[in-house]
Amino acid sequence: MGKFAGALALIIVVLLGISVWRASDLPSPYLEVPEAAAPDYDTAMIAQHLSQSVQMKTISWSPTAGTEGDAFLAFHSWLETTYPNAHTALSRETVNDYSLLYRWPGKGAGKTPIGFLGHMDVVPIEPGTEDTWTYPPFSGAIEDGFIWGRGSLDNKSTVVLVMEAVERLASEGFQPEQDIYLAFGHDEEIGGQRGAVKIADLLASRDIKFEWILDEGLTILEGFLDFIDGPMAVVGLAEKGFLTLELVARDGGGHSSTPKADTAISKLARAVDNVQSNPFPIEIDPADAANLRAIAGEMPFMQRLAAANLWLFGPVVKASLAEPAYSAAQYRTTTAATVFNGGSKENILPQEARALINFRIHPRNTIDEIVARTKKLAGDDIEVSIYAAPNNPPAPSDINGAAYGLITRSLGDAFGPIAVAPSLVVGATDSRFYAGVTKETFRFTPVVMSLEQFSGFHGTNERVAVAGLGRSVAFYERMIRRASGE
Ligand SMILES: [Zn+2]
Repeated sequence: MGKFAGALALIIVVLLGISVWRASDLPSPYLEVPEAAAPDYDTAMIAQHLSQSVQMKTISWSPTAGTEGDAFLAFHSWLETTYPNAHTALSRETVNDYSLLYRWPGKGAGKTPIGFLGHMDVVPIEPGTEDTWTYPPFSGAIEDGFIWGRGSLDNKSTVVLVMEAVERLASEGFQPEQDIYLAFGHDEEIGGQRGAVKIADLLASRDIKFEWILDEGLTILEGFLDFIDGPMAVVGLAEKGFLTLELVARDGGGHSSTPKADTAISKLARAVDNVQSNPFPIEIDPADAANLRAIAGEMPFMQRLAAANLWLFGPVVKASLAEPAYSAAQYRTTTAATVFNGGSKENILPQEARALINFRIHPRNTIDEIVARTKKLAGDDIEVSIYAAPNNPPAPSDINGAAYGLITRSLGDAFGPIAVAPSLVVGATDSRFYAGVTKETFRFTPVVMSLEQFSGFHGTNERVAVAGLGRSVAFYERMIRRASGE
């Protein structure tokens, strides 16, 4: 062996040694707590309540359509009748006619308030799919161990489960240390401009700033990762931003019998293709690495070795994250051409063609950056402008902070030694509008579900299992009690 080969072998041995050592020094995702006893909640009654809530058709049709006012007002009075103790202990105000803001006054003056968010509206049933539901979508049928229907997960589950916990605590005369707010919007599914935005504005006008807020987001998933035993709670510490860019190509027009090399359509097609085929690269920034590290301890050896040693295996790990689409979306700003319009008649050269490209912004990127990059890729010929209301990704919450600890401990209280991991939410929630009125934001609904159920968000056969509902309510109860120092 030459000197060089010897030195190289030594370096490899040392690197391997460090890598293996780092791979053996990873935290466990399983909570180190005893099994949790079944909470003494009446799951059948909670199921009835969730079923009743599903039967009210609080549908958000579109940003330009009106609000189903009667359905929301019925929902408001249903809340009042179903949760009488909560409505005595908490004050309630209506915001912009149909959203609700509750305040539970705390004992301690000057303590920073906390907030629980949810939304009362649901998406419509896609026309033509009504008959493919096992039980009608607004029946709230309680069958086969599930509550079926639109909103049973997204997001009446959150509203009902939070209210169940508050009702229980209020009926026992519990009073929190700090003010607790419950904020339920009525148009999350069509952008939140009428509900969450108005509530956040109102809070800001009163100089209210939360220690933390907990909104819908990720859940407790069964069979999510093959190396995790049992259900895994996935808590959203961050969410992506939202931006749609409009691309417009113009051309002189004319008769199709005497075309030039290009039309507005061909120019635009090239530009869109260039943007779409040059996606943002997959990166693993410190926050992504922390999320990976939280589950790496249970990975098979080779994956664990790579995840624990991103300094060495970064390129390999990035390549492996590119598929499937869900995994790639976690690690990059995504690019999706969603609308393309141009031309009106077969023999007329179009004077204009328009396309929309939707970006979901990873917390490391910004709107300005994406606009600049898209202009460059689209070329000088194409006008690029911001379409509708965009938002930069909110600042991620702290995995080592007190609030995240409160969530994991409450999960342990309610669910026992399950696995917990932080993650990035690739969709958008109402909580993004609260960035100015809270220090930290978490996105999580404590409901156990299969991957198939998780895909029922906005889809057919949306449903939630009756059996786990007691633990879900217990989680909120423990959050409230623990936040008050119990
Ligand atoms: Zn939702």
